[in-house]
Amino acid sequence: MGKGRTRIGKVLFTKDQIEARLDELAREIQKRYADRELTVVAVLKGSLFFTADLVRRLEIPVRVDILEVASYFDGTVPAGDAVLSTYLASDVRGRHVLVVDDILDTGATLAGVLELVRREEPESLATCVFLRKKRKRKIDVPVEFCGFEVKAREFVVGYGLDYAQRYRNLPYLAVLEQARTRVARDGKKKKGARTKRTKSRRSTRKRSRSSSRKK
Ligand code: 5GP
Ligand code: MG
Repeated sequence: MGKGRTRIGKVLFTKDQIEARLDELAREIQKRYADRELTVVAVLKGSLFFTADLVRRLEIPVRVDILEVASYFDGTVPAGDAVLSTYLASDVRGRHVLVVDDILDTGATLAGVLELVRREEPESLATCVFLRKKRKRKIDVPVEFCGFEVKAREFVVGYGLDYAQRYRNLPYLAVLEQARTRVARDGKKKKGARTKRTKSRRSTRKRSRSSSRKK
């Protein structure tokens, strides 16, 4: 998708659906870490709201740490390798660490984060993602907890996920569309995706042609 005007398309998961799934995820996580202290590492900024909502559902001792990563910059196509701009603030050595990210796409970002955390020698290391794209990954990353799966060709926004830093605050998850002309990933215009302007120009031409024929 280019950098043209965008609009919110189909809603994939509503606020209620997200909340219900978070309840389930929290139960799964609690079961695995029962009687242990968990260190959650939030990969920012995408997992900001997901992590906040998830940790507040956990009824086990939890420490929260952050790590900032940027990989898409202002577009919807990866801008190259992820940039880890902040390092772990606390010591995770000997701790049970759960890395929480927004979405697993090619796997490159999470693989980079895991490598960094692993160097700190945690007692155990697991991952939790809000979303996982259904695709063949460049790097195979183990994911122990996953919220929802989404189609690989869809670029999604909301509930922490952005497009050029926008839409993070939406309480639901939706597909991002290009305003007016909906352009598919391969660059071809989708059938029936004419702009309103072209449509009206065409019908004006048709009308004037038929009226000139009548004359
Ligand atoms: P990966 O390194 O796995 O290819 O990409 C993961 C990162 O790319 C995510 O943490 C997220 O920041 C970004 N990303 C991948 N797919 C999407 C998407 O559909 N929407 C948004 N907003 N970000 C995405
Ligand atoms: Mg991210």
